[in-house]
Amino acid sequence: MQSFTQKLLAWYKKNGRTDLPWQKNKTAYRVWVSEIMLQQTQVKTAIPYYLRFMENFPNIETLAKASLDSILALWAGLGYYTRARNLYKTAVIIQTEYNGKFPSDVNQMIALPGIGRSTASAILAFSEKQALTILDGNVKRVLARLHAVAGWPSKPNVEKQLWQIAEAYTPTSRYIVDYTQAIMDLGATVCTRSSPKCSECPVSDECAAFIKNETALYPNKSPKKALPTKRTFFLLLKNQKGEILLEKRPETGIWGGLWSLPETTNPDLPFQCLTHYGIITKNKTQILEPIKHTFSHFKLIATPVEHLVKSTNARAMSNTSIVWHNPIHPLPKGVPAPIKKLLLHLARESL
Ligand code: SF4
Repeated sequence: MQSFTQKLLAWYKKNGRTDLPWQKNKTAYRVWVSEIMLQQTQVKTAIPYYLRFMENFPNIETLAKASLDSILALWAGLGYYTRARNLYKTAVIIQTEYNGKFPSDVNQMIALPGIGRSTASAILAFSEKQALTILDGNVKRVLARLHAVAGWPSKPNVEKQLWQIAEAYTPTSRYIVDYTQAIMDLGATVCTRSSPKCSECPVSDECAAFIKNETALYPNKSPKKALPTKRTFFLLLKNQKGEILLEKRPETGIWGGLWSLPETTNPDLPFQCLTHYGIITKNKTQILEPIKHTFSHFKLIATPVEHLVKSTNARAMSNTSIVWHNPIHPLPKGVPAPIKKLLLHLARESL
């Protein structure tokens, strides 16, 4: 076994995290849900979501039989909703094509929606003790520093190099569970993104970045691309009862399947109200503070514009993808965080 692996395992015995909810009863299902949640979410934020998710969907069968709406509702606030949609798709595939059991073959696992090589390996390492290598964001950071690997870790040639290093350190199945958790823990608690705690690190004596006093240089930063800005309007339609119109967004795209304010790039909002919702509005409008939100590939600046409803026609009454929300009532499940914030603010103002 490599000395790095030995030191890491010894460190893990004393310092590893043992109380995370997904560390109990490590079934493929429980590990899978945690791995997907942790892809773009911090542990601290993910824990309450994970506990709620497990309470509602304790196994693959309950998840596969659930509605996408109920899954998205539990995901609301975590962002990157494609993860939730992929969880659902994968649950249905496993239930129908694999008789409710996760495949043991890593390539079959990788073929499932939302599961990449590192996630597939983590699931099989934790649930079946298969000696497979992981390379998530934390591990990339540790290894890039340890070997002073130049280049942005997500660049294919750099990533290939990191996979090779990671494979060389991966032990046999006897130690795989502890090792996999240990390297994740080292990245999460010691070799952190900023200000790594090198004085507490069990492998500092062989860490190239530490020895050269260059830990801040690794991993190299991604080439900065300025994100484009998209400017839109949110229609804040209020009826005579003070209720606000919410619309379910299409299944695909940003905030897919969640309840939101109608969004448009067309500044002719009264025309939009009439043609899309069968609603005639009064002339008076109120423009609110724009909502700014950064997605992975663009920045959104959306200006909420309040319109009061004068009358609605039959189309508005029969539209099943809209609801009228009374601000004094609890919000429907599955509202994106920025919209929730605005609606709660409006509800407080209306008191
Ligand atoms: S010595 Fe510092 S930079 Fe190197 S692996 Fe340990 S914590 Fe990370």
